[in-house]
Amino acid sequence: MENVKQYIEENKDRFLEELFELIRIPSISSLEDHKPEMERCANALKGKLLDAGADKAEVMPSKGNPVVYGEKIIDENKPTVLVYGHYDVMPVDPLDLWNTEPFEPVVKDGKIWARGADDDKGQSFMHIKAFEFMVKTNQLPCNVKFMLEGEEEIGSPSLGQFCSDHKDMLTADVILVSDTSMLAPDKPSITTGLRGLSYMEVEVTGPNKDLHSGIFGGAVANPANVLAEMIAALKDENNKITIPGFYDDVIEASEEERKEMAKAPFDLEEYKKSLGVAEVDGEKGYTTPERTGIRPSLDVNGMWSGYTGEGAKTVLPSKATAKISMRLVPNQNNEKISELFEKHIKNIAPNTVKVNVKALHGGLGYVSPIETKEYKAASKAMAEAYGKEPIPVRSGGSIPIIAQFEQILGIKSILMGFGLESDAIHSPNENYPLEQFFKGIEALPYFYKYYAK
Ligand SMILES: [Zn+2]
Repeated sequence: MENVKQYIEENKDRFLEELFELIRIPSISSLEDHKPEMERCANALKGKLLDAGADKAEVMPSKGNPVVYGEKIIDENKPTVLVYGHYDVMPVDPLDLWNTEPFEPVVKDGKIWARGADDDKGQSFMHIKAFEFMVKTNQLPCNVKFMLEGEEEIGSPSLGQFCSDHKDMLTADVILVSDTSMLAPDKPSITTGLRGLSYMEVEVTGPNKDLHSGIFGGAVANPANVLAEMIAALKDENNKITIPGFYDDVIEASEEERKEMAKAPFDLEEYKKSLGVAEVDGEKGYTTPERTGIRPSLDVNGMWSGYTGEGAKTVLPSKATAKISMRLVPNQNNEKISELFEKHIKNIAPNTVKVNVKALHGGLGYVSPIETKEYKAASKAMAEAYGKEPIPVRSGGSIPIIAQFEQILGIKSILMGFGLESDAIHSPNENYPLEQFFKGIEALPYFYKYYAK
């Protein structure tokens, strides 16, 4: 990959301007009224693929938001890399916590500040520019396909079906994904595991209407209090999840594996400082990286009930609702866990209230072996770009579609992510360091070089 650094240097400003065009489109997949923005973003991406040198690019319908597909086939006998990414983004509220406009990218302190700067417009755009470099300099060593979806942030509800419907079109030897992060710019890493997810909504109903808390308070069960007690009961004093059967399918990591994991650099003091917490918390008997890497977890993601406006309003609410997610480890089945959760939460509810449970979305975990040709190519590519061998890391996050790719398409994925933990993805002030953006564009062609060899 001759002159990749020079190519990036000469085209830097254009790369950023093109990325900013995509970022300015507020493609929030969870908001129903943003459908036209999803279409607009998909069409813009199609244009970028064609400009970069794709033989063809299309905005293809799915059950939900469209999928952008593009390809360049140089030789049927050469391997094919399928690049996966997503153009949808998370909502931006609370807006008042942003220092800049979420959809008007700003470069400050060496970082791009905007929703989607990292997740995943910034990271997937690196692939398009790496591809452009290889095409324009006649160095593309194998076939490339792109599949960029618009529903990742809502759990990819339509992509599984899309993959089944277009199996032939999507034939490839490896799927390459940049939608994860690395430990630090001086500690490159590759994600080798993802947690699964089971996401539930629990609604507790007490009286048939909101009541006066003076006239009725103390005499009728308050759904907000009841829900809080039920949630508290989901973990014991050692932070073990109390749902019967929850841990049945968890494969305990061996001492050997735990020793390997402990080699990844981790500074607990720095971690606490960066989060502004005095102490960490989690399952007894495990370190912080183990708690997110090899152990399942359960957390409330949102809770509401009664009066939440300004000032005081005396009310005994009729309903209380919580969204609860469980991060799962490979071999735990999310559908089974959702069923166990529903059964248990209904079981522990007192008969002063009615409980309604919905499974909102979920997915399986994923493990990528490090002995494969594709992992080795990614590792060498990272080493060449960063001057250091990357560390394989099990991530606490979930990308449910990755497990489905393996089930439906029979293709393994490589998670070569360039984000940093400080990028605040999904939060206000999402950002992406310019250095990571350009390093990614440099490292990706090296992957092709080693993989196609
Ligand atoms: Zn993402």
